[in-house]
Amino acid sequence: NRTCVIIGAGHAGSQAAISLRQEGYSGRILLINDEQDIPYHKPPLSKSYLKDPENGGLVLRPENTYQANAIDMLFGRRVEGVSVADKTVTLDDGGVISWTELVFATGARARIPNIAGTELDGVVTLRRMEDARHIAARMPQVKNVVIIGGGFIGLEMAHSAIALGKKTVLLEAAPRVLGRSVAPFVSAYVEARSRAAGVDLLTNVGIAAIEGADGHVTGVKTVDDRVYPADLVVIGTGAVPNVELAAEAGITIDNGIVVDAFLQSSVPDIYAIGDCVSFDHYHAGRRVRLESVQNATDQAKHVARTIVGKVEPYREIAWFWSDQGDMKLQTAGLSFDADRHVLSGNPDENSFSVFHFAGDRLVAVDSINRPADHMIARRLLAAGINPTEEDILAGAVRLKELLA
Ligand code: FAD
Repeated sequence: NRTCVIIGAGHAGSQAAISLRQEGYSGRILLINDEQDIPYHKPPLSKSYLKDPENGGLVLRPENTYQANAIDMLFGRRVEGVSVADKTVTLDDGGVISWTELVFATGARARIPNIAGTELDGVVTLRRMEDARHIAARMPQVKNVVIIGGGFIGLEMAHSAIALGKKTVLLEAAPRVLGRSVAPFVSAYVEARSRAAGVDLLTNVGIAAIEGADGHVTGVKTVDDRVYPADLVVIGTGAVPNVELAAEAGITIDNGIVVDAFLQSSVPDIYAIGDCVSFDHYHAGRRVRLESVQNATDQAKHVARTIVGKVEPYREIAWFWSDQGDMKLQTAGLSFDADRHVLSGNPDENSFSVFHFAGDRLVAVDSINRPADHMIARRLLAAGINPTEEDILAGAVRLKELLA
């Protein structure tokens, strides 16, 4: 009589529960989450949800799917302690539960910058359903939105705010938006197109403080002493992995819970998946922590196989998407080591891809409104096929031939 306890029921934890059953795990599966909501799709929270909160339809799977798979759910409950020696978890109501296998799927939380005013009413972050509900409820009264941080969530929020008719300012401290994720050419393109859509987007601008009156936000002051009026300030300055529980249990942490190629942590029978994990990525050739639905879902499926004894190294190509106004951005692979870039398609038509190479090796492809390129890129990367510049410029048909 085995029991697998999964801490966290986001994209990773909920998928792991289902996959464990599908892989034939016959013990008890217990999914514990500190949110009340049935596991839901997160990407729409910064995109379609804010534009149409009534539309619903966010649940990942109907509640009865969990029942049909004999998955026990404990929602609105936090795990507060993990004992490796006793193989137990302790809940916030004092309950103690034994496990034979434990999966950390604790995700990440918003990083709050160390500036004055983050506690003011009207200053928000967006990670969870309850954050999105809170923002959607305020939106009708909001006139001026200031977004701090030009990452994916900040840019998506900027385009959602513009679509809702708000005056929208985005302030990025670095020289370019999406600096850690895409090529400089793509950053410049996204900046220009966001400005054309109406976002007042500034880079290289540090924040001095968030200002308020009577506990409510009134604006954001930059280090060059400008004040941008705001009745809603969205902090989009990245995420920190939820690793404290694992760290207290003595599990090795390095910008995330460290796992091996089988997604096992430094402690036997304890695994970790999704946003909270740091792992050696076989294709990137370095330790990474990824925040994407692909990574959460693929690692969840993989850990289920590991737990039932189908042990193989995790090898999946990273991919990601982001919708910003009329731009559907998709990336395949990881471009850290890229030193050469090949452009295909036409930026003037809002449709192009940038192929990134490290020497002759294809490492990543960023696409804007080129879903066919994105799909081919994933297959090229997985197969380890390196197209030449001539292949790329010849177009999708030629690239497909390389895969044949
Ligand atoms: P999470 O979804 O963070 O789930 C972890 C859960 O564990 C949370 O509910 C947390 O509260 C709970 N938890 C943590 N500690 C405990 C504890 N001690 N006890 C009980 N419960 C606990 N990715 C894309 O690929 N494309 C997109 O377009 C995209 N858009 C996004 C938009 C937004 C607004 C956000 C926030 C994320 C977006 N992402 C996107 C990223 C993607 O949603 C995440 O990578 C994914 O949700 C990670 O899943 P996870 O299960 O690892 O973590």
